[in-house]
Amino acid sequence: MIKRGRNEWCYLIPKNLFFGKAVLLVFTFFFTVQVWSQRLDIGIMRGFSVSSVQFSFGDGEYEFLSDSNLICKLTKADKITLTRQGPGIRFDKNGISMGTYTSVYIHELTKNSCLTMQCLLPVSKKVRKYRNDFRVHTEGTEKLKIINEVEMENYLAGVIESEGGGGKHAEYYKVQAVLSRTYALDHLTKHFKDGFQLCDEVHCQAYLSMMRFTPAIQQAVHATNGVIMIGPDFKLADGFFFANCGGQTSESDFVWNVSVPYCKSVRDTFCIHSKQATWEKRIPQSKWQNYLVEQFGFPLTDSLLSSVMFYFDQPVRTAFYISPHLGIPLRDLREEFKLKSTWFSCYPEGEELVLKGRGFGHGVGLCQEGAMRMAVLGYQYEQILRFYFTGIELFDYSQWAFLRQKSSDAYTL
Ligand SMILES: [Zn+2]
Ligand SMILES: [Zn+2]
Repeated sequence: MIKRGRNEWCYLIPKNLFFGKAVLLVFTFFFTVQVWSQRLDIGIMRGFSVSSVQFSFGDGEYEFLSDSNLICKLTKADKITLTRQGPGIRFDKNGISMGTYTSVYIHELTKNSCLTMQCLLPVSKKVRKYRNDFRVHTEGTEKLKIINEVEMENYLAGVIESEGGGGKHAEYYKVQAVLSRTYALDHLTKHFKDGFQLCDEVHCQAYLSMMRFTPAIQQAVHATNGVIMIGPDFKLADGFFFANCGGQTSESDFVWNVSVPYCKSVRDTFCIHSKQATWEKRIPQSKWQNYLVEQFGFPLTDSLLSSVMFYFDQPVRTAFYISPHLGIPLRDLREEFKLKSTWFSCYPEGEELVLKGRGFGHGVGLCQEGAMRMAVLGYQYEQILRFYFTGIELFDYSQWAFLRQKSSDAYTL
């Protein structure tokens, strides 16, 4: 077996460049159509135990089926309620029972239709809208399992809307679209045991509704159709992000003890004038001292070390408090004292310890406020991603899948 280097896939492109390009173009077209229309199974309303849910008109036309038998069509005035009852699902249309079924399939009759949904048990005032098809099954002894069979691009628009909302720059939405698409394609089996692919909570990616169908978000998803982010190992890259780095992003191993090759620390001046770029916190010195002594055996008897216990200067991001020899990870201090970031310096004042910090979040990967600022300044989404993720490449998913397949074929020859 020949071990391939990380960039050797490029040798797989035929030597005759013209022919090679033609082959790629054909495959790109073929797979792009596939990615565009690819459907995902998303478990929705997973944050709580749903036992009754109401569907009503959103846009387009729908029919409700059970085992491919038509139960009814949905008109604009209809309210369809599905309620868990014993081993089955009771189907009510405008308050009148239409039977009990083991599962219900909700199928769009016109392309890109959408349904309005509201959870009745437990009671929720929140109204959600989702596009495309749905399946409703029983789950456990009392719950309903609702799955949205949604086209990839609709799903991404819902995720971007749920995670960031409206009012952002188009290039920033494109950055989000690439990261969300890459994440989704990299985690298609995350909920395999639950009978769907991804959930609608932050455990996967928040996908709470498409209430506004923000045109700018849809255009950004469209404009980056199929584009994914690939790491130096030619695998799908994890698009880690956080709110604000304060001027410098963090090495991944400072935070997770794992080195992510494309998450290198970078200097970032784009975010430093944002509100979240700096912070201050005061903590009783006794609390700080107790934690250091109890958790890390801080040597109080060492007069030199005890005299510097409350003094820490961190001009650039580091991993440990005062000195690596003491073995006090800044990430542990952040977690214990609920600090906005690990990038802080401190000094004593009266009975308190004053912490002056920079940034908000874990600091690894993309700085959201910096990226937003870059978008406003005219940077393209490719430039923004390359700034925060070192050595990544952007590929069309179909091209990447094709080359990867060719690469693994070559492996087995
Ligand atoms: Zn999940
Ligand atoms: Zn930043």
